[in-house]
Amino acid sequence: MKRITVLAGGVGGARFVRGLLAHLAAVAAESGPGAVDVTVIANTGDDMWLNGLRVCPDLDTIMYTLGGGVDENQGWGRGGETLRASAEISAYGRGWDWFTLGDLDLGTHIVRTDMLREGAKLTQVTEALCRRWRPGVRLLPMSDGQVETHIRLAREIDEHQAGDLIHFEEWWVRYRAGVPVTEFIQVGLDQAAATPEVIEAISSADVIIIPPSNPVVSVGTILAVPGVRNALRSTAAPVVGLSPIIGGAAVRGMAEQCLETVGVDATALGVASLYGARSRGGVLDGWLMDNADAEYLPALEDFGIRGSAAPLWMTDIHTTAAMASEALAIASSVSPHAPL
Ligand code: GDP
Ligand code: CA
Repeated sequence: MKRITVLAGGVGGARFVRGLLAHLAAVAAESGPGAVDVTVIANTGDDMWLNGLRVCPDLDTIMYTLGGGVDENQGWGRGGETLRASAEISAYGRGWDWFTLGDLDLGTHIVRTDMLREGAKLTQVTEALCRRWRPGVRLLPMSDGQVETHIRLAREIDEHQAGDLIHFEEWWVRYRAGVPVTEFIQVGLDQAAATPEVIEAISSADVIIIPPSNPVVSVGTILAVPGVRNALRSTAAPVVGLSPIIGGAAVRGMAEQCLETVGVDATALGVASLYGARSRGGVLDGWLMDNADAEYLPALEDFGIRGSAAPLWMTDIHTTAAMASEALAIASSVSPHAPL
């Protein structure tokens, strides 16, 4: 049994994993079932308490996408959703009226909150929710502790003052990342730890993939959880990433604003340098960039990272499956023990 472990944010991570599963299914159809287990470690830094409920955007995006329940057009939330409960909550003047909580989605948050209140850990709750959705992967939250990404505002806006900390989702969804920020802070990180399940999924993997997810607030947050970086540094598995930036711009979402805040160039090379080569204290052995960024290949080798270029727009399942195949090819070239 081969094991692939993926460190994922929401939409970018979920779409990539869907392509990875399609690639593995195609390989199995051709050469017989090779029995590959995929584990996805999801960012939970975007989680929040809202209307008394624990909301986990990235876990749910992955679960709904792989389980066939996602709204395909927007890439998150449930298909066929209605907003009647949210309208009622707004009528009471409560909650965040700029943050969509659909009626079907609320069902998930209610069940999750119910189980957490009964004393279950988020890892167990996620496993229980996935028994319904059957995402075809083992889905793990990065931590059972509450870690919530906040941003510090560089200027005042609405009811907030310059210097205030607000939840990342407020900056992202309410302000469309359009207000300058001075820093990202993971509130609760000092008391959090990677779960034993996460450490085991990294240590015992044959290949680790960092998909095209937001490098600062998705992958960066997972890497910041105590225990994760060390596990990545010491695992025998090759670690291969795919660039979330193509030709100097985030493909979807607002990764550029996040990179700018942390002082990193919003380029495929900038993100690779942020992650760093495993041989030099970072986490990467290999890095897949879009063909548009092939000019960075020599610089990447200078960093000590094995590079390759391929089309990286996840426009359809075939292109995305081909991306997964390329990433696994880099893994094999870095570590001949890891071929899948
Ligand atoms: P979020 O949690 O929903 O923001 O999703 P992720 O963190 O997993 O991924 C968001 C990032 O993925 C975006 O900011 C983009 O940089 C990247 N991304 C999204 N779609 C694509 C794509 O088709 N190709 C590539 N290379 N990157 C993508
Ligand atoms: Ca997210």
